[in-house]
Amino acid sequence: MLVTAKDILLVAKANKFGVVAPNVCNESTIRAAIQVAEDIKAPIILDICDWQTQDMVLLGRIAEYMAVRSSMPIAVQLDHGSKFSDAILAIRSGFTSIMVDRSAMPFEQNVQEVSDLVRIAHSVGVSVESELGHVGMGDSYDEDRDAGLTNAAEAAEYVKQTNIDSLAVAIGTAHGLYKGTPRLDFDRLAELNSAVNVPLVLHGGSGSGDENLVKAIAGGITKINISSDLFVEGEAALKADKRTAYFAFDKICDGYKAKLKYYMELFGETGAALKF
Ligand SMILES: [Zn+2]
Repeated sequence: MLVTAKDILLVAKANKFGVVAPNVCNESTIRAAIQVAEDIKAPIILDICDWQTQDMVLLGRIAEYMAVRSSMPIAVQLDHGSKFSDAILAIRSGFTSIMVDRSAMPFEQNVQEVSDLVRIAHSVGVSVESELGHVGMGDSYDEDRDAGLTNAAEAAEYVKQTNIDSLAVAIGTAHGLYKGTPRLDFDRLAELNSAVNVPLVLHGGSGSGDENLVKAIAGGITKINISSDLFVEGEAALKADKRTAYFAFDKICDGYKAKLKYYMELFGETGAALKF
């Protein structure tokens, strides 16, 4: 069942569970992610990043087709679209949701560029996530952690002006693997959750700690992006196997699926598809 991320996140927000958005990079990982969703009867948001795939258009179409064939609620989302053309290409390639990332820009420019794409996306039933504040990289965590934290009053104004469907916030997580210990600002999350009415999104879920992530969901986060942890587990499963390269992606997907299932169960997604 192909749906938008908005469709999924509104149900998650109302029922207080978290939805994992795993990054998928080819047919095998799309198949693996959908398999886990079907196994535990859960919705899923497939995140596709331009730089992680050879052909975003083709991958969008594959994901769309597999989502239509499944009985689970599945959204196909562009992750970190940084150019106008990325968003348009995704909309034309079967994606049901787009993340428009203008988080490195000044507030007014961010609002302007995101609003333009919201008008286009909404006119064809595609939902939009964007980011205010800036979630940095784990390898420079200790230097960057405080640089881009999201301000609640600005976030409320931003959501009003852009008309986005979900907001990615910076509360102390980082992309990739952390150098240093993640410190999440739960007071800030509480302020954001009361200031903003659309579902809140946490990027950089990998390595953030189970306790932190569960607490973030209780504090109002509804979508958690996870990528690195799934592929690290996939790599470990591959290295543990002695068979030929022919089976390489099967083994990677064994690890990927195990970690994805772990997080989806941890975030309360088991059986959540029945709420749709
Ligand atoms: Zn991200």
